[in-house]
Amino acid sequence: MEDLVYRGIIIKQANYGDAHRMLWIFTETDGIIKAVRYGIRGKKTSNAAAFQLFSYGDFKLRPSRGEIMTAVSADVLDGFYPVSEDIKKLSLASYLADITYTLLGEANPDKRILALFLNAVYASSYKEVDLLKLKAVYELKLMSIGGYMPKLDVCSVCGGVGEYFSPERGTLVCRHHQVAGDTKTDDALVSLMRYISGCEDRKMLSFTVNDKALIERLNKITEKYVALHCDAEFKSLAYFYNIIEI
Ligand SMILES: [Zn+2]
Repeated sequence: MEDLVYRGIIIKQANYGDAHRMLWIFTETDGIIKAVRYGIRGKKTSNAAAFQLFSYGDFKLRPSRGEIMTAVSADVLDGFYPVSEDIKKLSLASYLADITYTLLGEANPDKRILALFLNAVYASSYKEVDLLKLKAVYELKLMSIGGYMPKLDVCSVCGGVGEYFSPERGTLVCRHHQVAGDTKTDDALVSLMRYISGCEDRKMLSFTVNDKALIERLNKITEKYVALHCDAEFKSLAYFYNIIEI
């Protein structure tokens, strides 16, 4: 069978056998696909860097009947090295990759989510961006695009004043209809959530908030929203919090 070329970014990897590595590449055409890179560990291979986590480029893959494809070579367009070289950025990008993988699954192409992910990794690499801000924005934008656009107006039960955010419903609820797990909001928090969920994707980071506590409250909400709908706890998230406190 002929080799195929996929443009994409490596979003996950794991050891495979004694010396090999399994790669998950988020591609434009086929969504997240798996490929094995043989002999990547243990010895020096000619272009090992091309197959690092968050390497973005054109990957030449060799299909084999009934087996996982083999990664043959790669032309790197951007290695996003500032991310791999900074443990804080790397741990955040790993978490963002985890939630993306969990929400999207394999072989489910989504150019918009791919662009969003590339945008986040790009910002983390080349722009001065607060990592907690980037985390919350990505979480909320990913959910909004991925089928969980929040409704941020009145209480979704009675039409009363929405004072809490319900991650279960993805809406605001009033004080009478809030339940355990819902989070108290205020105007500043709700307008921020409205901006992020509704803005053009490429403008998702184009706002300034000087109130650190507001970004932290936003993080609690968006993080809970993701965890609830992905039905998962992410080790990479716990790791990220450990790292940024150092
Ligand atoms: Zn209500």
